This record gives sequence, structure tokens and C-alpha cells, in this order.
Amino acid sequence: MALEEKREKRPPVTPMMIEEEAALRNGSRGLPPGPWAEAAGPRPRTTERHIAVHKRLVLGFAVSILALLAVTMIAVLLSVRFEECGAAADGPPRAGGNGSLSGAARQPPGAGQSPGRPEEEARGGEAVEEEEEEEEEEEEWQRRRELPPWARPRLPRHLRPLHYNLMLSAFMENFTFSGEVNVQLEVRNASRYIVLHAHRMHIEAVRVAEDKLAGGVQVARTFFYPQTQMFVVVLNRSLEVQKSYNLKIIYNALIENELLGFFRSSYVLHGERRFLGVTQFSPTHARKAFPCFDEPIYKATFKISIRHQATYLSLSNMPVETSVFEEDGWVTDHFSQTPLMSTYYLAWAVCNFTYRETVTKSGVVVRLYARPDAIRRGSGDYALNITRRLIEFYEDYFKVPYSLPKLDLLAVPKHPYAAMENWGLSVFVEQRILLDPSISSILYLLDVTMVIVHELCHQWFGDLVTPVWWEDVWLKEGFAHYFEFVGTDYLYPGWNMEKQRFLTDVLHEVMLLDGLASSHPVSQEVQQASDIDRVFDWIAYKKGAALIRMLASFMGHSVFQMGLQDYLTIHKYGNAARNDLWNTLSKALKRVGKSVNIQEVMDQWTLQMGYPVITILGNETTDNIIVISQERFVYDSDTKPKDPVRGDNSYLWQIPLTIAVGNTSHISSEAIIWVSNKSEHHRIPALEEASWLLGNINQTGYFRVNYDIRNWKLLINQLTRNHEVISVSNRAGLIDDAFNLARAGYLPQNIPLEIMRYLSEEKDFLPWHAASRALYPLDKLLDRTENYNIFNEYILRQVASMYLKLGWPTNNLNKSLVQASYQHEELRREVIMLACSFGNKHCHQQAATLISDWISSNRNRIPLNVRDIVYCTGVSLMDEDVWEFIWMKFHSTTAVSEKKILLEALTCSDDRNLLNRLLNLSLNSEVVLDQDAIDVIIHVARNPHGRDLAWKFFREKWKILNARYGEALFMNSKLVSGVTEFLNTEGELRELKNFIKSYEGGAAVSFSRAVETVEANVRWQRLYKEELFQWLRKSLTQ
Ligand SMILES: [Zn+2]
Repeated sequence: MALEEKREKRPPVTPMMIEEEAALRNGSRGLPPGPWAEAAGPRPRTTERHIAVHKRLVLGFAVSILALLAVTMIAVLLSVRFEECGAAADGPPRAGGNGSLSGAARQPPGAGQSPGRPEEEARGGEAVEEEEEEEEEEEEWQRRRELPPWARPRLPRHLRPLHYNLMLSAFMENFTFSGEVNVQLEVRNASRYIVLHAHRMHIEAVRVAEDKLAGGVQVARTFFYPQTQMFVVVLNRSLEVQKSYNLKIIYNALIENELLGFFRSSYVLHGERRFLGVTQFSPTHARKAFPCFDEPIYKATFKISIRHQATYLSLSNMPVETSVFEEDGWVTDHFSQTPLMSTYYLAWAVCNFTYRETVTKSGVVVRLYARPDAIRRGSGDYALNITRRLIEFYEDYFKVPYSLPKLDLLAVPKHPYAAMENWGLSVFVEQRILLDPSISSILYLLDVTMVIVHELCHQWFGDLVTPVWWEDVWLKEGFAHYFEFVGTDYLYPGWNMEKQRFLTDVLHEVMLLDGLASSHPVSQEVQQASDIDRVFDWIAYKKGAALIRMLASFMGHSVFQMGLQDYLTIHKYGNAARNDLWNTLSKALKRVGKSVNIQEVMDQWTLQMGYPVITILGNETTDNIIVISQERFVYDSDTKPKDPVRGDNSYLWQIPLTIAVGNTSHISSEAIIWVSNKSEHHRIPALEEASWLLGNINQTGYFRVNYDIRNWKLLINQLTRNHEVISVSNRAGLIDDAFNLARAGYLPQNIPLEIMRYLSEEKDFLPWHAASRALYPLDKLLDRTENYNIFNEYILRQVASMYLKLGWPTNNLNKSLVQASYQHEELRREVIMLACSFGNKHCHQQAATLISDWISSNRNRIPLNVRDIVYCTGVSLMDEDVWEFIWMKFHSTTAVSEKKILLEALTCSDDRNLLNRLLNLSLNSEVVLDQDAIDVIIHVARNPHGRDLAWKFFREKWKILNARYGEALFMNSKLVSGVTEFLNTEGELRELKNFIKSYEGGAAVSFSRAVETVEANVRWQRLYKEELFQWLRKSLTQ
């Protein structure tokens, strides 16, 4: 699953100038308006309901006794072969129109109990009986002083599904579906209960039969247990060990206008709205589409059939085996049986898309399905082409062939994530897969490419070999994120993604998050379904990827690759935990004669939160001894004692520290030192007077390095005289480490600014990018202060000469993006962005000229790669007419990439009325897609003129926002951090704390992170702001 990327495309901005964004890759996808919870889901019982039920229990007791005998007799008569527990209550509206029910619903059972939909429960009758029965069951367990199996967060282990036969009918005209699932069960321990997941559906009938014998097993009762999203079938007798049974459930549900389970979405073609149904099951939503054992460990085979109107087509993980057409215009597609797989990457879709197709060398058929106009325009061709090449790449890299006969890529208008790796049917939001080369920037192409590389990696890491449980979701997500860079390097060998861009986009990015005392370990324990979404965060993705890169680096890439091949081969079609990986990798190392206990090393990195800062002291002594010490890096040292579990003193890591000794002309020696103690002495080669030490060569390690001031000064000297002695990645690393060490108070504030000075000679993109990103939070700390112009002036001076040297790109639309020199274009973009943001006059004029030309000619000749910068600069500098013009273009454009940057440009205005207008419009789903509303609010918060407006808007609209995004935790936490992360005054901190006291809704973790961040901001202002300004003043007068 690919999350939305927070990529700082833009730099810091001055209050009077541009505000911009960190564009988010992996589309934050939209949610429907209206509360999520409105779906037909069982509702937790209230106290009042308990009381009512108890009264009725007492009153009805006598009657029940009398009735019991009669009821039992009737039941026995009815259940000659099967016991049916259907419901008489209304489910979701049935298929209308043709009046024909699906295979699944063709024999609707006549009687039974409600599955517990709130509206049905309220009607009493059967529902109350069900409550009573459930309570009886619970009381029995209470007497035994045990939690009943359905009240525990995980499914009981006594049953295992072997095979599912799932027959679905999709009624797109009224957005309902019905299904019949037959699960073949293996019994491991005798039990009278079948406990599985089912949520927000209406169950009509349940039957249990012994597999090979004709005899049924009587169902005593069934009930939902909403707290754990489980459904319980209580049998009259125990299922016997080693026997196999068949569980049949007939049910129906809604194809909701939301983003989870089997949901619907729409698009407009030739003025007509068309609908499609698609699934998102990861991590815990398959249970909303069919009753199942919805934990990744329960791998089974699946045979799916989908019945739909012939005007639609249906897709699933496997190819269609046969299609049976009916006279009434309906068709049933029967898909081939899947290999063993988990429920979360099962998928289907019902749509009227068209496709283009290609075939890999090994014969895998790859199709890209999208809305017909996009297919006709060729917007899917890029994705299709790289997918074919990437399958070939992965097959070669992993030495394991792709496991299914086909792979479909489905481009949908709406999706909660950038994409989802369903095996054989991966689903992408349109902005992450459709690409029109004539209007796409390099960054957009990069985003599309990396999301595809990510999802394809999952076909192996995730789908073929699946983590045992969600605590190790980073095993699949960290790998897929890491391989985004490796796979892109395969497609574009000159781009050096893994060696370079990985640093700024992953390593530097996640060290910001993981440097908070309120971070969490990459391996997180989770149990409840409601918590599982929480593990899909940047720590899992980015720290996971950074740890894997460190591991690959100290193992050696070829041994690492061999180890992965073994791991996939051993565990294919199964599940594996992190220790399985560590063991396999240790063995691979052993084969080449190295002995490292990988589990021991990696447990410290995956089970402890945070990361170390290594301090290397030495250089002044003559005995060639250096002192290396480690401590946990935290931005706000005041928060250290708040760590409830352990003092920070106990944090220790085994650190593969690479260290180089260099002098003015070259690096004379390199070594790897394993640091595992708090402080260690190490001997190094004799140092000359001007020799410096450099730790973490090429920044392959997940830690920061600090030195004594003398060594920092020597490094700064080196960069100024001849920066190429130090590698590109280390130049970027030194910049990032210095800025962050200073921000956290480990280093004087002037050191990072002194390092920056060499940039006027820096021709590589990466160090500029690292500097731009590191300046961003610093800029946000200063952008509303009195002396901001001093800082602004300093940065402008550093940028000026490179800006002059590089100039502006020309708009050559015929030139393929892919052919363009990526490094050069990205560097030019970065420098233009800095220049325009900090108020370079030429840059402003250029942007204004380009915008004026567009308005007067109505032809957009703005170079693709800098369009966002130009739009934003234009909106911030020019009058309201420009804002209105961009607003109009936002409405009229149909290209998804263009729409997004136009909307973001609107947030750059310094007119508070316009910003307020935009904020208010953002919640109107007709105007701004739900997923984009979050970005609007966050971008306004980044604008110094809008920060307080966004913050106020956020607090006033919290109820609406939380109702919209609350269930999609990832989006909610992005919103919370986006609006609060740059608050930095005592007053704002108070407002935040007061708000948290009174707010309702989830996101507690996000809010505690927000408080810590704002506290650190306030502390920095108090302790270091003046020091920084003093140095800047002195420096500018020199
Ligand atoms: Zn993923």
C-alpha cells in the first residue's frame, strides 16, 4: 500500500512571497462527505440498552421456559439437514429493476435473526432475542472467568479456513450487493463456536455441514459482536478435530460511497456520470465485503464469481475462466482459483473501463484499465510500459517468477491510498498512474513511477510472502519503499535514486519524525482492528526502508540480494515474521564467511524507538585515539524525562559506523567500527594537522553524527576549498545533520549556516535539495518574527550566484521528460524555488511575466517543471485577478496533475480574505475533492499570512473534519500535524493544549506529537533565536 508522500517540493518562503507546499505523493485520497459511521454497521450497545434487555429478560423468563420446548421441537423439524438462521428484517435494499436475485440470493431464507443492524435492533423482536442469546453466552464465559473468544481482539485458533467459494451479485443501479460464501474449514481444536469477521452487513442465512458427509450441524444461534467486528455461530455440538466442515453464509450489504470494503466511486464521461465498484480490504476491511477470517495468517485459496449487468465488466485477482450470459442482460464471471493468499489483498471491481495490454517476456499479461477517455488519450501507456519492464526486473532480482498469469492495474478516481497492491489486481488512484507527458513535471513522473515500483514489489513482498501480523507491516512496507528507489534506478540508471534521493526523501524526512520523544518503534504491537490503521505510518514506511538500506549496506548488496532470494523461496505462499528474515540473512552472510548476528543487531533498531546521535571527539590529542559516544537524539531535550518506559540513558544501539579520515585533497582511509557501548575509545591512523574525520560514509546509517567544533570547522573549510573530496551524499548529510543538531541544541546555530556558504559552488542537486528542506522548518520558525528579513537576506545571498548561473528552463514541449537531464533540471528547479521564495527580484519578475503572458494569450507557455513555483509566486505577488484566473483554470482543467498544483497555488495568496474564502470552500465537496481539502488547509497553514486562519478554521471545523477523516487515521494525522507543526508561540501552544482538553474524536497520538513539536518550536525560539540573529547580523555586515 502506498501512502501519500510528503515531499517538500518547495522551499521556505518569505511572508511577502510565496508559500508553498510539500506536495504529497501517493494521493491523499478523498473521503465521501458525511460521517463514515453512518453505514449499516452494528452499533456498540449502550448501558440503557443493557438495562432494557435485562428487564425484558426477567419478564420474559417464565414465558421463555414454557415456549422453549415448543420452539425446540419446531427447530428440530425445520432443520432436517441444515439449520437456518436468516433474518426477517430488512437488509440493504435488494436488487431492484429486473427483480432477479443473484445466485447467492436466489434462495433467500425466510426466517431468522437480524445480524444486528441498529435500525433492526430498534424494532425489537428477533433482535432482542439475539441480544439475550449473546448475553447468555457471555455469562457462561464470565462464570468461567474467561473472555469469550469473540471478545478477544484476535480470532481464536481452533479453526482454519482452507478454501473460500465466493459468489457475488453486484447491483450497481442501487449500490447493493449480495453474496454467498462457502468456507471449507479445518478443525484444530474441538469447539462449538465458529468465530470469524463480518462487519456492516446483513446476514440472511448460516449453514454448517460436515464436508464429505451429508449431515448438517445444527446452528443454535448466531450473533454479531461489533466491538471486535466478529460474527459468531454457536453450534449445538462441537466440531470435531481433524474433520473438515463447510460453512455457508448468505448475506447482503451496501456498495457504500466511501473508501473501505466494497465501495463505489464515479466519474463523468461525455456529460454522463458513470459509477464503478471497487474494493479496498487492507488492512481490516475484507470483513465488510464478505464474512471471512480476516487476519493475514489465515491464507486460503479463493474461487470468486461475480454476477453483474452485461454493460459492466468485472475484474478480480485471477483471470476470468468462464462467463455465463443470461437472457435478462446479466452475466456471471467465474474467476480461476487463486493460490494460497490472505484476505487483505483479495480484490474485485465492477466497472465499465477500457484497457490497453502488454505481455512480459515470461508471458505475464499486463493490462491497464481506466476510464475510456484516459485510455484513448494514452494516459496509461507510460505506466503499462514500465510495469512490464519492472516485472522483468523483479523476476530477475528475486529469482522468483511472478506468481499469477496476469496483472491488472486499475486507475480509479477515488481511493484512500495512493495505491493498493492487490495480487494480480492492483488499484491506483488516477493521479498516481495516469500520466500525460505533455503536461507533467519530472516530479509528477517520479511520483507515478515510484508508486508503481512500490506496488509491484509487493507482489513479492507482501502478497507472495506475507507478514504474520500487522506489527511487522514495516517488513512489507519498508521493503516496498526501499525498492521504490532501487527499481527506479533500474528504469533510470543515471538518476542515482538509492544513493542520493533516498537521503532527502526518506532518511532526512523520517529522522525528523523519529527524533521526537513521542515516536514509536518501527515494530509496534497492535491488536484491535481500530488500531491497525495506526501502523501504516511514515515510521513503518520510511524508517523501515532506512533500516533495510543500512542492513543492505553493511551486509553488502549482493549478499543481501542472495538472502532475499532465499527468504522469498523458503516462505512463498506463506507468512513470515521478522526473525525469519533475520535468520535467512544471517545464513546468507555465513555462506560468504561473515558472522554477524543480524537478529541481535536489528532488534535494537526495530524494537527501540528513535535513533542515536554519535559524537566523535578527538583530533586534538596526538595518540591517535578518538572517543566515540552515542546517545538518543531528541529535538526537545526537556521531553526526555517524559519517556515513561525508560530513561533515555538506557537507549543503546549496535551501530555500524563507517568513518573516514581526509585532508584537503583526498580521503586517506575508511573503516567500519561497530559501536555498541555508551562511549568507546578507538585507535585511528595518525592525523595530520589539517585532517578531518567524517562519520557515516555516504549516509548509509540511520543516525546522526556530531563532532567537536574544530572538526566541524575543518569540514567547512574542506567544503569551501574543494567540496568534491567529500561525496555528494555526505555533503547532503552534513547539511542535514548540522541543521538538525543545531535545531535540537547539540550544535551552535551558526554552523549549519556556515556550511551552506559553499553551496554557491555546488553543482549537484542533492546538497541543494537537502539544504532547501532543512531551511524549510527553520524558515517556518522565523517567518513571523521581526528580524525575519535578516535571515531572508542571508539566504538570498547564498542562492544568488547559482540562480544567475543556471537561469530558467525553456519550455520545450516536444522534449520527452524522460530524456531530460533529471539532475540538472531538478537543481535548476530547486534554485529557482529558493530564489522566488526568498524574494529574488529577477525571479519574481520572471514569474509575473510568465503569468501575464498566460493570461493575455490564454496559452500556457510556462515550463512544466516550474509551473507550481510560477503559479504560487504569481498568486502571492499579483492582484486578485490572478487569483481568480487560477481559480477559473482550476475548475476548467481536466488533467489531474495540473488541477492539483492550481489548487495549491491558490493558498499562496497574502490576502487574508481570499485565504478565508478558500478555506470555507475547501469543505464543499462539489468544489474541492475531499482528499484535496486536507491539502488546502495544510497549505494555508504553511503560509505565514494564513497560519492563524488555518489553525482557527481547523479548531472550528474539527467536528466536521473528524467525522470525514477520522476513520482514515493516516489522513487525520496528516491534517493534525500539517496544521500544527509550525505553530511556535507560547500563545499558540496554550491554544493547542486547551483545544486538546476539549476536543472529541481519535487522533490522540497525533495530538501528543503536535504538542511535543510545538513545545520544541517554542523552546527553540526562547533559547536560540537571538543567537542565530546575532550571528546573521554580524555575517551580513562582514
Ligand atoms: Zn505498500
